[in-house]
Amino acid sequence: MFSSVLIANRGEIACRIIRSARALGMRTIAVYSDADASALHVRMADEAHRIGPADAASSYLSIPALLTAAHESGAECVHPGYGFLAENADFAEACAKAGVAFVGPPVHAMRIMGLKDAAKAAMQKAHVPIVSGYHGTRQEPRFLRDKAYELGYPVLIKAVAGGGGKGMRRVDSHMEFEAALADAQREALAAFGNAHVLVEKLIATPRHIEFQIFADAAGDVVHLHERDCSLQRRHQKILEEAPAPGLGETMRAKMGAAAVAAARAVSYTGAGTVEFIVDAAKGLDDAPFFFMEMNTRLQVEHAVTEAITGLDLVALQFEIAAGEPLGFTQADVARNGHAVEVRLYAEDPEREFLPSSGKIVSLEWPAGEGLRVDTGFEAGDAVQPFYDALIAKIIAHGATREEALSRLAKALRATWIAGPKTNLAFLRALCVAPFMRTGTYDTGSIERDATALGIGPRDLDRQAAATGVAFLIAQEQAQFARGGDDPWDVQDGFSLAPPHPVPRPLLADARRFVAQVRFDAQGSHVEIDGVPATKPGADLRLVPWDRGVLVLRAGRQVVIRFPDERDFEAVEVEGEEAIVAPLPGRLVELLVTPGMHVEKGARVGTLEAMKLAHALVAPRAGIVREVLSEQGAQVGQGARIVIIGE
Ligand code: ADP
Repeated sequence: MFSSVLIANRGEIACRIIRSARALGMRTIAVYSDADASALHVRMADEAHRIGPADAASSYLSIPALLTAAHESGAECVHPGYGFLAENADFAEACAKAGVAFVGPPVHAMRIMGLKDAAKAAMQKAHVPIVSGYHGTRQEPRFLRDKAYELGYPVLIKAVAGGGGKGMRRVDSHMEFEAALADAQREALAAFGNAHVLVEKLIATPRHIEFQIFADAAGDVVHLHERDCSLQRRHQKILEEAPAPGLGETMRAKMGAAAVAAARAVSYTGAGTVEFIVDAAKGLDDAPFFFMEMNTRLQVEHAVTEAITGLDLVALQFEIAAGEPLGFTQADVARNGHAVEVRLYAEDPEREFLPSSGKIVSLEWPAGEGLRVDTGFEAGDAVQPFYDALIAKIIAHGATREEALSRLAKALRATWIAGPKTNLAFLRALCVAPFMRTGTYDTGSIERDATALGIGPRDLDRQAAATGVAFLIAQEQAQFARGGDDPWDVQDGFSLAPPHPVPRPLLADARRFVAQVRFDAQGSHVEIDGVPATKPGADLRLVPWDRGVLVLRAGRQVVIRFPDERDFEAVEVEGEEAIVAPLPGRLVELLVTPGMHVEKGARVGTLEAMKLAHALVAPRAGIVREVLSEQGAQVGQGARIVIIGE
């Protein structure tokens, strides 16, 4: 076994790898960008090396910087985690050249599986079923459009270098094809530096069922059963479970054998995941299934497999990378009970899932039987805007699916996080959704039930907001009592007349509201639109923060503040007529010039942020009065880009 490992990653996965490496007696070496100098993975590791500035391209994605750190620390092996360079064959090759073992599959297998077109070709040769489509080298729009027509709409355009659902577009008609192709290519080029795409038939009722496989250098290959990852949003996984609900033994055996064949076809070693798409229009029994891709690394969702098999997948990866045999056969692989995982992200489901960032002001994780929380954060740490916004994975295991789900639901009710916006309320709704209880979902379920799941704009929780206002008023009064403030500044409605309500403007998540505040002998009484404040308690928490208060209830957070001089600018950009950048990013496309007429909803430009393209659209019809930025410019969050007037 190795005696030391450099973990070329950050966040929860770096922390998780450190745990297994340490248990194996290895010296753990972390790397960090300037943004992560005091991050949890750095605090946990035995030693840590700086690899560059915050920008991932100059740090976690920099092969020279990582190799220098490996050299300086004397690391015997490198574990890449997932994301970043985990599936980068050049990195694996560079490690080998530098004499450091790469904890992952052989370079040739990574190269084939790294491109969806090459992978499909290899699978076709190995008689693993693939979705029909065009995965050749020709890329002319006309040609691809003809192929789409031959396949029959709807089709899916996929970036061959794609991952995480990026560079993927569904196309329903011939007319839409070229625009969708251009979008997919632009996104693919930005995210992967490779604009090549393939076109395949879209499966209408798809289930995403993947098999974890493990192979050793002697050529033994096993699978560790499947995971169902059908619950996705925009092709990104949100909830994963093992086993797949409704998957019978015959199908499991057939798919497992295909997964093993896929691994053998590329002489695989180490941990990998073979992803299949199942056409579940008529249920799972005997359903058609197709190879989608193989991920040549550890998956985010590996923990559900660990829960049901009792294996430590990271430890197994190290053993195989060190040349040890698997040491067990297919028949030895356990399948105990059921496990479900959800991904807690710093993002706002009420605002198009915009990534959120900033300091985690307070944090409380659930604990109990069958629960596991994998995170890279503690209270006081900051979610960085430069990287993936995953805060934690919460995993529940039980003897049955029902038990696992009820443990998960309970765990999410006992999770409290204040600071960045999170998808906690959405996850809570998801794990008790009807399709979840029955286990009869497909990859479109979340989108179809979006509103019931709390996706999209929602009303302010007025009771929560009023409770926050009451807290801020009590704080003001306490300060006044201590003589801290000029008494005339405190709006306590002091008057000789009978008590009457005083209007008090407030900002709830930067939106303006007015509370009515009445004072009497008992203290203050706050209402917003007739809804009175309540008391904090088991289902509502208040966390004071930056002259305001964060109110937490039902997995949602609202920031309550009284407006001050800082707000003028913010309020101005909220005006109907300015199109502002929802995130910091680069303006990759600007489609309007002053004097142009635009319709409501027309796209005026494209902002590339967090490697995704965000359309900037006109909030109303009108004339472009001003263009305040230029194509290619870097813009900050809230920056005004286009002004539309009468
Ligand atoms: P990525 O590498 O970007 O994650 P995948 O090829 O793994 O892309 O596909 C991601 C998701 O997109 C799948 O889990 C599935 O939900 C959906 N998907 C992929 N191919 C198809 C298809 N042919 N028909 C319908 N949905 C698909």
